[in-house]
Order: sequence, then structure tokens, then C-alpha cells
Amino acid sequence: MQKLEALCRDLKEFLLERPDIVVTNHQNPDGDAVGSATALSGVLMQLGFRVKIIMPNDYSSNLKWMSLSEEVIFYDQSQLEADQYITDAGLLIHLDYNNPSRSGAMENAIRQSSAKKLMIDHHQQPDNFCDWTYSDTSMSSTCEMVWHFLAQMEWTELLDKNLAEALYTGIATDTGNFRFSSTSATTHRVAAHLLEKGVENQKVASRVYDSNSISRFQLLGRALKGMEVIPELYTAIIHLNQEDLEECGFEKGDTEGFVNYGLSLEGTEIAAFVLPRDGMYKLSFRSKTTFDVNQFARAYFNGGGHKNAAGGSSERSMGETISYLKECLYKHQAEIKEHAENP
Ligand code: 5GP
Ligand code: MN
Repeated sequence: MQKLEALCRDLKEFLLERPDIVVTNHQNPDGDAVGSATALSGVLMQLGFRVKIIMPNDYSSNLKWMSLSEEVIFYDQSQLEADQYITDAGLLIHLDYNNPSRSGAMENAIRQSSAKKLMIDHHQQPDNFCDWTYSDTSMSSTCEMVWHFLAQMEWTELLDKNLAEALYTGIATDTGNFRFSSTSATTHRVAAHLLEKGVENQKVASRVYDSNSISRFQLLGRALKGMEVIPELYTAIIHLNQEDLEECGFEKGDTEGFVNYGLSLEGTEIAAFVLPRDGMYKLSFRSKTTFDVNQFARAYFNGGGHKNAAGGSSERSMGETISYLKECLYKHQAEIKEHAENP
């Protein structure tokens, strides 16, 4: 924590200049990204800073209940306005991503900005583009890190029930509801503190998870029906085609978490999910124990993420993407077997 202490001391001094602040997160924001951005922004606003939350694109409706949601500016919808805020900002805060390329179309604006930059993030291999980098890959979530940051700044008193619920959401979603190995005793202590702030955990869970649509269930049915299991690779692959998305009436967020079904199959170590996105194919990877899907996604699919959860992309056709994926997995067959059998 020495590093965080020094960072906060330095940052506190800079904040005396009262910079305008822009808070950003990664493309296709998830619960951790939206929770951390809205909660930290809420605290900074209470401290009297002028804060704008700018996200690369919209996020799914089951997260829209979070406070400050209605104030978020989406870069792909309001680029001119967003560019102006980024240009005028004295401080840019980057949450839940560690490389400007993960912010999609905002990348150039971020790179060209002369503002001071603060990163708070838990993904592997952070890029060196910030003045202050609080990176810890052992952390459950960026929301947990924002809590530690607030504690170090002595600002946790400013967390009201709504902001606490935003942080709780990010911790809960990024840990698979406190299941993944990244969930530490400290994660639970942070969650306990948030509950003491008034978080209604049942209500949060219901808003986030009891929001399935018919289209999501129909897509899930198709994805599971087409699941391919490769026993010698301890791998389950699911995919959805463009026609599946169209015929089922796909809406943003509908396929969130589908990849985990492959992982919950007995005997699997790796799950992969392929679906069309932005004229390419997006891949999601998960591993159950020790196989490093971050390295795998980096090596073969221009991606990254965490050891047990990563993603990437492919410009090949669906069929070729899946063939290539299998080819890559077969290269690691012995290693995968070792991880699956001796976790
Ligand atoms: P998901 O599969 O849920 O989209 O992403 C899993 C994890 O991998 C997330 O932490 C996400 O930030 C990261 N990730 C997903 N896609 C990419 C990608 O294309 N590049 C990088 N660097 N990380 C990704
Ligand atoms: Mn995260």
C-alpha cells in the first residue's frame, strides 16, 4: 500500500489546483466499469469538483438504475461535446482499463489530451500512459480498488447508499458474486463496509440479474444447443451467428455471462464464446483454474484481460475463427491437460 499512499499524497496536492475532471472507462462498459465511474464521480462532485463521466458507448439497461447514470455522456453519440470536455479537463481518470486502445473511438482524444492522467485498474500488463497508475492485478475489481483509493484519500465518509450500491455492484459482478479466486478476505471486508453504508444487496442483485429478456433466453437456448465440447482440450466452445442475433431480437447485454455456461460444464478448464461485433468477431475466454487465458488472448486474438477471464477479436469468418481457435488450443494441449488435472 506504500505506493498508493505516495500516489494519493501527490494527487491531493495536485487537486488543490481544482482541475476539471473527466472520468472514463472501457468500451462496452460492464458493472465494474459503470459502478466505479459513477461512484468515484459522485464522491468527487460532493467535494465540489466539476466532473464529467464519458464512456465510449452505451451499457446495458440492467445497470441504468445507478445514480449519475442519466449524466453519462456517450462518446459515440456526442463526440464533439465529449472532445471539448476532454480537451478542457485538467485531470483524466481511467477506470477498469489500462491501455487507451481499450477505450475504442476515444483513444485519440485520450492520447492527445494534455491533462494529467490517473489510472485505477486491475487488468494485467498496464500500459505506461498515466501520471499516476494504481494498478493491482490481484484485486477482485476496479470497484474494490476505488474503495481502497477513497480510504487512502480519507473520503469513504462521502459514500452514500447510492454510491455504495454502485461499488457493490462492480465487486459482485466482477467476482461472479464472490465466487472467483480473486475474492479475498479484504474484498469481503470492503463489501461489509458497503453493506453498513446501507446497500440493499438483495435489491441490487435483483436489479442486475432478474432482468432477463425473452431475447436473451432465446439466444441462450441457441448458444447452448450449439455448444461444442472437446474433451481432450477440456474446452467448451459456444457461438452465435448474425442470423441468431437478428432472429432473436438481440439487445445490448443479452449475451453477458453466456461464456460461463461452458465453464460450468463438468470437466472443462476452458470456455470460449464467439459472437459478431462491429463487423468482426468478438471472443470471450474463461478458465476455471490455472490456465492463463489472458496470455492466450494476447498471443492469438489481439486481446487481453485477466488470467481467468479475457477477450479478443478476429477478422476471419466464423468458421475460420473457430478452426483457428481450435488450432491454437491444440498447440497448448499438454499444458491445458496439466492445468485441468493438477489445478
Ligand atoms: P468479456 O469476455 O467479459 O468481454 O471480457 C473479459 C475480460 O477481458 C474483461 O476484463 C475485459 O476487459 C477483457 N477483454 C475483453 N475483450 C478484450 C480485448 O479485446 N482486449 C483486451 N485487452 N481485453 C479484453
Ligand atoms: Mn473489472
